[in-house]
Amino acid sequence: MNNSFVMKCLTVNEKGNLSMGGCDIADVAAKYGTPAYIMDEDEIRENCRVYTGAMREYYDGKGLVLYASKALSCKYMYRIMREEGMGVDVVSGGELYTAIKAGFPAERIYFHGNNKTGDEIEMALREGVGTIVVDNIFELETLSRFAGDMGKTADVMFRIKPGIDAHTHSFVQTGQIDSKFGVALETGEAEDIVVKAAAMPNINVVGVHCHIGSQIFELAPFELAAEKMMNFIADMKDRHGIVMDRLNLGGGYGIKYTESDTPIDYDKYICAVAKVVRGISESRGVKLPYIVMEPGRSIVAEAGLTVYTVGTVKEIPGIRTYISVDGGMGDNPRYILYQSEYEAARVHDPNAEKTMVATIAGKCCESGDILIDGARLPEIKAGDLIAVLATGAYNYSMASNYNRIPRPPIVMVSGGEAKLAVKRESYDDLILNDL
Ligand SMILES: *Cc1c(COP(=O)(O)O)cnc(C)c1O
Repeated sequence: MNNSFVMKCLTVNEKGNLSMGGCDIADVAAKYGTPAYIMDEDEIRENCRVYTGAMREYYDGKGLVLYASKALSCKYMYRIMREEGMGVDVVSGGELYTAIKAGFPAERIYFHGNNKTGDEIEMALREGVGTIVVDNIFELETLSRFAGDMGKTADVMFRIKPGIDAHTHSFVQTGQIDSKFGVALETGEAEDIVVKAAAMPNINVVGVHCHIGSQIFELAPFELAAEKMMNFIADMKDRHGIVMDRLNLGGGYGIKYTESDTPIDYDKYICAVAKVVRGISESRGVKLPYIVMEPGRSIVAEAGLTVYTVGTVKEIPGIRTYISVDGGMGDNPRYILYQSEYEAARVHDPNAEKTMVATIAGKCCESGDILIDGARLPEIKAGDLIAVLATGAYNYSMASNYNRIPRPPIVMVSGGEAKLAVKRESYDDLILNDL
């Protein structure tokens, strides 16, 4: 059956219920409670393979795909990434700690962040993190000092602002972009930091990095970024004799949250960008760099949903109907943060006629605690299960305990089996650090 959902891993089973990874969503909800994040493990692995396969095809395997783990960070995810031959990027000591505790090989970890603390830098060096993506001159100096004290040499890349600002359906080429991340190309800031670093004894300059935005649906901004970065690599070689043989092109590939989202095949991005990289490598006479990519959202978003139980259905005549569920902004803060759009489905008989237009609200004490404004659904009554779709990225990882609501579990489904990746927080977990 060709499904009508934004998540391609979702089907309807013989009982008429939503089903994923061979598991009935209603059964999973009954076993683990609601709300719960449910993730299709095979879909996550498949998404990794699209990238690793394209890397083999377009760059002869001379590169590494990193999972940008801020999209969903837990030990189970790092274990999947290790098994899939991926690298990961982390942006904090906490993400690094989780990766290490999950047994992820440190040499395949890239450490990002615009304000790494001294403790985080020391931790990264101690744990043997493969590459540190340096954001600014202060960080470079701190890193150099720590590496010197510890008798280590750090492999570094620099976060460059290529002057391209990409959003969902458009991008702009700006001069010096207003961003807290990285060093600018136009002003010479990027050149300065590379030259300074190349002279530091405990720093090994390996390459440059850029990340131009998120949920991007166009090829052109990626091609343009690759062009600017390759020219910068060539300029550094021509002007200073500094050879950088690694290029990290970041993430940001768009996903389908609603029917109106039209992502391009990830394979196509990689193919198009590879053409640009190869072309400049030839025309400017620089060796083809080792390519690094960092997809986050596109690895996990469409592999996950959140299942909720409906508590009340409140119809305000002539105004709107509120469907209140047993979760909300605590488990999915993306609506209250950026009015992100999602689609929902009733778990039982989801393809029944959609007779209702309603606002799905959470249980927090905020009027803005909304999951979907104007959801189109079949008739919904108290006690029904509903699923909000494509919540695999930036939901659990952005969750909070607002109103002291425990965070939901993450249940992984595959081959008809459901197992916990993260258990539900308990009330005791909530007071663990209270003195
Ligand atoms: C967030 C982030 C990514 C991943 O972005 P997605 O939109 O989730 O693909 C990659 N690289 C860096 C540096 C990031 O900050």
